[in-house]
Amino acid sequence: MTSTLSLILKGSLKKIKKVVIFLYIIAIPFSNIYSMNNPFYKSYNTQFEIPPFSEIEEKHYMPAFLKGMEEHNSEINEIIQSPEKPTFDNVIIAMERSGDILDRVSNVFFNLSGSATNIKLQEIEKEISPLLSEHYDSISLNPDIFNKIKLLWEDIDNLELSKEENKMLEESYKNFLRNGALLKGLEKDRYLKINQEISKLSVQFSQNLLAETNRFEIILNEDDLNGLPEDIINLAKEESEAKYKITGDNQYKDKYVFTLHNSSIFPFMTYSKRRDLRERLYKGYITRGDNNNEYDNKDITSKIASLRVEKANILGFNTHAHYVLDNTMAKTPEAVYGLLDKLWKPALSRAKSELQEMQSLVEDEGQNFKISSWDWWYYSEKVRKEKYDIDEEEIKNYFTLDNTINGIFETANKLFGLTFEEKFDITLYHPDARVWQVKDKDGSHLGLYVGDYYTRSSKRGGAWMSAFKEQSNFDGRERPIIINVCNFPPPSKDKPSLLSFEHVTTLFHEFGHGLHGLLTNTEYRSLSGTSVSRDFVEFPSQVLEHWASEPELMKSYAKHYETGEPISDELISKMQKASKFNQGFANTEYLAASYLDMDWHSLDTKEIQDTKSFEKKSLEGIGLIEEISSRYKTTYFQHIFTSSYSAGYYSYIWAAVLDSDAFKAFKESGDIFDVNLASKYRKYILEKGGTEDPMHLYRKFKGSDPDIAALLEDRGLN
Ligand SMILES: [Zn+2]
Repeated sequence: MTSTLSLILKGSLKKIKKVVIFLYIIAIPFSNIYSMNNPFYKSYNTQFEIPPFSEIEEKHYMPAFLKGMEEHNSEINEIIQSPEKPTFDNVIIAMERSGDILDRVSNVFFNLSGSATNIKLQEIEKEISPLLSEHYDSISLNPDIFNKIKLLWEDIDNLELSKEENKMLEESYKNFLRNGALLKGLEKDRYLKINQEISKLSVQFSQNLLAETNRFEIILNEDDLNGLPEDIINLAKEESEAKYKITGDNQYKDKYVFTLHNSSIFPFMTYSKRRDLRERLYKGYITRGDNNNEYDNKDITSKIASLRVEKANILGFNTHAHYVLDNTMAKTPEAVYGLLDKLWKPALSRAKSELQEMQSLVEDEGQNFKISSWDWWYYSEKVRKEKYDIDEEEIKNYFTLDNTINGIFETANKLFGLTFEEKFDITLYHPDARVWQVKDKDGSHLGLYVGDYYTRSSKRGGAWMSAFKEQSNFDGRERPIIINVCNFPPPSKDKPSLLSFEHVTTLFHEFGHGLHGLLTNTEYRSLSGTSVSRDFVEFPSQVLEHWASEPELMKSYAKHYETGEPISDELISKMQKASKFNQGFANTEYLAASYLDMDWHSLDTKEIQDTKSFEKKSLEGIGLIEEISSRYKTTYFQHIFTSSYSAGYYSYIWAAVLDSDAFKAFKESGDIFDVNLASKYRKYILEKGGTEDPMHLYRKFKGSDPDIAALLEDRGLN
């Protein structure tokens, strides 16, 4: 994934909020805000302009945010007050240039609040988040700044703008429109009210879901643990010990607790021999938010869906999906449904044959029951072991973190001629973080790449790419500082950090986003690097995953951590054979959730729906079989009810069509590092950021439209 931070903080959407500033000036002494002794107040006088981490203290953040908003406000005010005729320079570029302090403090703060947080940072985050969202929101509804942009937009043909300037103006204008800038009077009031209501309901949804996830558990005895690996058992024991400590409740004494958190339920579903317990846990999982109690999400979700229709209508769109998709690569709901429909049948039919295979195994074992949805993980794992004979532990020995870093750097070197030199004289924010200077093939400086790879309690889960500084050229050549954050196991006393192949793929994925951020070469920050539409942004990351498993590259970077022996052909071939395993199931449950998302957001009526029957109709409509559930059901579909993935869950597979098709071109050239293709990929995709329509860019790179055939083949769905 990429961090949305950089998308939120772009220059074209910023404004004034005096009340807010005033309130907080009361809370913090003037001397703190105006003291010049704050590293965020001036540009960094450091090597590569990296933030001066050794000087930054927690006490600097809040004053810098407040001063940053104040400075930003007065800059925007100056643009508004200017008596001159609006020009691209005095409006659009002036906005792009505004908010320096705010950018500097945000880039450090939000990176650290994700990867090295503490109670203090969490408090600041809680305090500053609503202020920032108000700060930016109010810009998009400021009629004075919008009118200047509108005048420019209406005169665009006479402005003699470059292609990229044109795009900047277009994006600014459209962003304002999409955020309600044209609304007046009652409509505007209602629009604001809807936004507030949706955000309140979303918070409620998320708190309910958390409560529902936390309140369910199963407490087991030692003889209930049949089949579970030792590390899973240890986790369950720790969980019960922790609960006993907190509650003093004897029911936890010397027991094993399993919960609905992913790290607990899915290993249990995969390995537990107890069918009855798998059923109990699974049913707990899929009924979250649907228990007719105080945490029920059914009414909340149907209300959100209804409010979204109303909001879309106010903004001139027929449905929420039309509104959301308008500025994506897919553009229309029809295009999204078109893709889902092409994949659905092959995925479902593959899943049905996987089901048969598992059913035969049940019968071979002399048992007499029909596979249910809570059996899927357990029996698919059994089939996998039987068919592919894969030993995860054996694989890990070849993928130390350092080997894998060599693998990503080698890929970038062979494709684009980039070189990486680790810098030891730069202070970072945490001893685990490392930094490399990235140079282009002619030796010129391209940017910095920071890697913060090990898991720790101050880091949130998952993996992501973000930036401490973004690229731009309009005020002189500014090169980026990119960061990859992961949650890989740290080295132990006698072993280096060893990665599972899933971790390896994750590093290639995040490094793919990283290359998008490092190789970008645009005039304006707002259009640089990963500032592209949501269904395009995963293309550069997902495409790099393909290189990770190429035997040619693997033999060079995957070496046994003790013997230094390269990985054997036999092991590579086993891994390749197993890679298509269970794809019917994985794609079917993913696609079902994508349909459910699209159906909720293709409603063209504000009428409140009955959540259960709506969902049933949606899933029955596509012919989902009862042995598979949608990956998310409505009442716990966080992506679409609390984060920005409404009418957007399809994005991953949309980008997958592109990455499979693009990688196929490399394979077909006979050289996975084909220099000619790589340079086109760099020139038309990685360097261009959001400066052009992504489909045009893709065509320029590939010479043709993306074809779905490669994806079907990659996933074994052809
Ligand atoms: Zn990603």
